[in-house]
Amino acid sequence: MQPSESTNLYFHIAADQLKMPEWLRRLLITPKREVTVQVAFERDNGDVETVLGYRVQHDNARGPMKGGLRYHPTVNLDEVRALASLMTWKTAVVDLPYGGAKGGIGIDPKTLSKKELERMTRVFVDQIHEIVGPDSDIPAPDMGTNHEVMSWFRNQWEKYHGFNPAVITGKPVEEYGAKGREEATGRGVGLLAVKLLKRINVRPEQCRTAIQGFGNVGSHASKFLFESAFPVVAVSDVSGTYFNSKGLNILEMFSYSIKNNNRLEGYSGAEKLPAEALLELDIDLLIPAALGDVITKENADKIRAKTIIEAANGPVDPEADEKLAARGIMILPDILANAGGVTVSYFEWVQNRQHYRWSLDRVRQELDHTLSEAFENVWQQSATLSVSLRTAAFMLAIGRVQRATELAGGTG
Ligand code: GLU
Repeated sequence: MQPSESTNLYFHIAADQLKMPEWLRRLLITPKREVTVQVAFERDNGDVETVLGYRVQHDNARGPMKGGLRYHPTVNLDEVRALASLMTWKTAVVDLPYGGAKGGIGIDPKTLSKKELERMTRVFVDQIHEIVGPDSDIPAPDMGTNHEVMSWFRNQWEKYHGFNPAVITGKPVEEYGAKGREEATGRGVGLLAVKLLKRINVRPEQCRTAIQGFGNVGSHASKFLFESAFPVVAVSDVSGTYFNSKGLNILEMFSYSIKNNNRLEGYSGAEKLPAEALLELDIDLLIPAALGDVITKENADKIRAKTIIEAANGPVDPEADEKLAARGIMILPDILANAGGVTVSYFEWVQNRQHYRWSLDRVRQELDHTLSEAFENVWQQSATLSVSLRTAAFMLAIGRVQRATELAGGTG
């Protein structure tokens, strides 16, 4: 199944509950604009490399479109389309005044030198600068991009349009970035895990947790959960799964990975298993925090966790979702679970527009407040209508986008 088909299937399940007419479904599903551009840049040896860059602007009924830039070899138009629509539902479920978009380049950034990465990013901006802006479409980091890439993006965009740091979020803190943006997605996953487990009467100390991925999201989520007394028994990255049945020393692993170029490779303080073993461990809570489509009908029956929190975008495909639901496994969906990142992106944009700076405490408090409110709404909706948390979240999100579309005159 193509990524956009999966996302749309979840949309239709919620739209059925809302009894949404066909014409409106088509309107809300169809992206406003899809752009594919040539990104030709010079390699350090003088060769010219040509790759494709994308920006899909899905919906702007609720405000300027918002969403990250992904640099990864699997990036293609359909994947970006799916991720753009997830951004529309994500910003709506946490009630940020934004629509949704996503962009990216189909390349493995690890194969580029820093200078090459910078040149590629600047060419990409040359190709898309006219369609992004602080009031229209605001990019941010995603897989394979970071605060440095955001800084180059902003600098190149400002060459055309003049000073306006609100054009992009996830910038370095010294350069109009927000304190707490880097940790925000992982911290949000952690905050929501605590709330969810409280609701189902599981104490953190009893909740053996495994986290797939130790990048920006997985590492910060692990750290937050470790500090909240969860036994984090396994974490993984491409180099393997690191396991300790009594709980890992996450703080030590966190510093190890920072010193080791963001990799766990070579860490010797835990038992080492193959990377793919993590998903099937005998645990209570599973947090996929890496790529999409990692839980499918092929491995759904082997999942032993009782609860899944989707820190990645689209980690569970619809067939697996059905199988897991039939076994009573509860899933906190991506559009809520990983919304901490875009929430703090919103705080960054607000600060940029006001030329004002918030303290880290304020960022954290407001993040907690925004996610708590969204979680309570989704939880209530799910309990009242006896639907899954995913369907409840999609219903809330779609309902809000529908309302904004209607208020604007019906065609968005
Ligand atoms: N890329 C992140 C996401 O998928 C953050 C987007 C943003 O901050 O705009 O939610």
